[in-house]
Amino acid sequence: MSAEAPIVIVGTGLSGFSLAREIRKQDKEVPILMVTADDGFSYSKPMLSTGFTKGKEADELAQATAATMVEQLNIDLRVHTTVTGIDTAAHQLCIGEERLTYSKLVLAWGADVIRLPIEGTGQEHVFSINDLMDYRVFRKAVEGKKRVAIMGAGLIGCEFANDLRNGDYEVDIIAPSDTVMPGLLPKVAADAVKDALAEAGVAFHLETVVDRIDQDGDGVNLILANGEQVSADLVVSAVGLRPRTSLAAGAGLQVNRGIVVNRALETSAEDVYALGDCAEVDGHVLLYVLPLMACSRALAKTLLGERVEVAYGTMPVMVKTPCCPTAVCPPPQGAEGDWQVERDGNNVRALFKDGDGQVLGFAVTGDYAMEKQALAKEVPPIHS
Ligand code: FAD
Repeated sequence: MSAEAPIVIVGTGLSGFSLAREIRKQDKEVPILMVTADDGFSYSKPMLSTGFTKGKEADELAQATAATMVEQLNIDLRVHTTVTGIDTAAHQLCIGEERLTYSKLVLAWGADVIRLPIEGTGQEHVFSINDLMDYRVFRKAVEGKKRVAIMGAGLIGCEFANDLRNGDYEVDIIAPSDTVMPGLLPKVAADAVKDALAEAGVAFHLETVVDRIDQDGDGVNLILANGEQVSADLVVSAVGLRPRTSLAAGAGLQVNRGIVVNRALETSAEDVYALGDCAEVDGHVLLYVLPLMACSRALAKTLLGERVEVAYGTMPVMVKTPCCPTAVCPPPQGAEGDWQVERDGNNVRALFKDGDGQVLGFAVTGDYAMEKQALAKEVPPIHS
């Protein structure tokens, strides 16, 4: 390993750029090379599901070009460059035949969208949206169209449904669950969001799945497992994300649901670190912004010589469904306790309490969503 080799960060999403910013707060000069498969624009991914509501085109959601980031952060940046492997023994990254030597390597390469193998002739009308480039393609395709079918009723499917309704599109959601966001919200809160979306005009087809998507004129016809058919101009697939682990596994790094790192964000290989959507931090796979911000603050210090462990506080998640504002802080997995619920229309306050009355998690919707900050203070941090 060469002494002059840079810190190499793979990925220019929120994780990669937050980390570079945190490093620069403490050290203006240490060489940083960022490598990214995309165009290196800086943008806030959560804003992608608010474009119609905020009246913004895809490019208006971008905050800075790659060239601006190079200047602002005093970094080298290689865009449209896909890393194909890691040679941890040689401290090198592989980009096809090319080799790049690192002093420290940070994997901030995010998660892949899950693609369902669905039969039919309408595949070119199916879109997944997990970055600004996807969103640009989607916005172009949806321009002048009227009907969008969304596969998946998770957070991203619900947010896009609300946003597309605010853009005056007809929206159908198809999902196997009996309500929305089943893994995230207790049922009573989920039903409040579902009812509010339905009142806003979203048509739900739950407890079924899409069997076929066939071309039909300029649009598509979706055939559902329950025999129903849905016509749409295009389809958004929002059925989930999976941390990118295969290159890391190929390099011999320990992977599980994500790339396994400890609280110092160290992988099982020396001088290789991971954070953000690709990482499983001390057993937690949290594909949200707050955790990656906490990780980038700790990791910047570690990379500069002061080994620091991340401490996750409470991590509430805001669901951007303006028809029913929602915040949730799920209780720890396996926690013992009960949901105590108040519901008034689509306003729900659900508190998960243990036997001593300690609040371990919450979900609040509608008017109660404004209590999220106060409630977050009552919930013990993930790392105490
Ligand atoms: P990404 O942003 O996916 O960045 C990965 C980077 O790695 C990209 O630059 C990519 O080009 C690069 N890359 C990948 N593979 C390679 C390779 N082999 N070689 C080189 N480069 C590579 N979270 C919240 O907390 N609140 C919200 O309200 C919220 N809303 C969301 C709404 C939407 C529509 C979506 C999709 C997500 C939302 N999230 C939200 C989640 C949050 O945005 C993500 O957790 C976060 O942006 C992940 O950032 P990341 O940098 O880890 O990954």
